[in-house]
Amino acid sequence: MIEDKNQQRTSLENLGEFGLIEHLTKNFDIKHKSTIKSIGDDAAVLEFKTNQIVVTTDLLIENVHFDLSYVPLKHLGYKAVVVNLSDVYAMNANATQITVSIAVSNRFPLEALEDLYAGIEAAAKIYNIDVIGGDTTSSTTGLIISVTAIGAVDEKNVVLRSGAKANDLVVVTGDIGASYMGLQVLEREKEVFKVNPQNQPDLSMYSYIIERQLKPEARKDVIELLKSLDVKPTSMIDISDGLSSEIIHLCKNSDVGVELYENKIPLDPQVISTCEEFNIDSTTIALNGGEDYELLMTISQEDFPKIKGNPNLTVIGYITEKSRGMHLITRGEQAIPIIAKGWNAMKNEV
Ligand code: ADP
Ligand code: MG
Repeated sequence: MIEDKNQQRTSLENLGEFGLIEHLTKNFDIKHKSTIKSIGDDAAVLEFKTNQIVVTTDLLIENVHFDLSYVPLKHLGYKAVVVNLSDVYAMNANATQITVSIAVSNRFPLEALEDLYAGIEAAAKIYNIDVIGGDTTSSTTGLIISVTAIGAVDEKNVVLRSGAKANDLVVVTGDIGASYMGLQVLEREKEVFKVNPQNQPDLSMYSYIIERQLKPEARKDVIELLKSLDVKPTSMIDISDGLSSEIIHLCKNSDVGVELYENKIPLDPQVISTCEEFNIDSTTIALNGGEDYELLMTISQEDFPKIKGNPNLTVIGYITEKSRGMHLITRGEQAIPIIAKGWNAMKNEV
């Protein structure tokens, strides 16, 4: 795995903080007119013509949020950006700028940070984002990375968690549960690797779920799709912690109930087969898995014809009056209350 890749190791101490920042950020170009002044002054300067700006931050800590024994640094950089952009898109906003702050110990050579920044740069390019600043400091232990994302949206287009109404349809993008199952495979391979470092596992049958874990994408395309379909969701949230906790957030913020249908939840065939292999219930994983970075939204019934048949958007249930509670209707037509950690205490099962 990655620690074996013994390339050149340039000590960070030789560069100094300023040299390091300059080196890591030299490739960042400016793509947005709203970026007036980027890296290089005491603060960046932005100017927006739209009247609402969204701001969101995530903090990722080594061995809490990521494990460098199987996460390549380039992927980590990419993912650190993507998880923030996902929050911006979940507001129905367009992401425009990010700042990136890192704390590193001197166990990391310059080459490691170059990999991290290659991932950040790749994400900035693909999602059309300006990297406008950050902070660099030392850490006594692991790597810490914090990204702040900024986006712009017209006031009339902002979508909050609080707008769902009874009879609205619940829609999820893409498929869910894959990222969690990818993590299970990586964790298993890490244990195998500890015992037998020569073992080169064939992970091709898990390629999709591993990619979903290591290199998730934010659904910028869905925000553009909704615009082109002329659909404004009544509420929206991104799926970082799993379907059940996200639908609970939407319902609580909107003061409504929900009925979701087990047989409507979109699952990739690799999730189904890997769940069988691990002897885990795939619905439990879809409800509780997390890190899929898909969007969960509600739309009014009259918008249904506009989204009908679109392969990116699946209707999985509908919003009810609050008094009816929050339930999953199983394949056996049982109504099971949706709770934050799922109806099947996943943590004990896997
Ligand atoms: P200050 O001491 O005023 O905080 P710094 O020397 O930390 O300034 O930063 C100099 C410039 O480099 C600033 O524009 C800052 O936003 C940017 N910067 C610092 N660290 C990073 C980083 N890790 N990634 C991107 N930009 C950074
Ligand atoms: Mg600073």
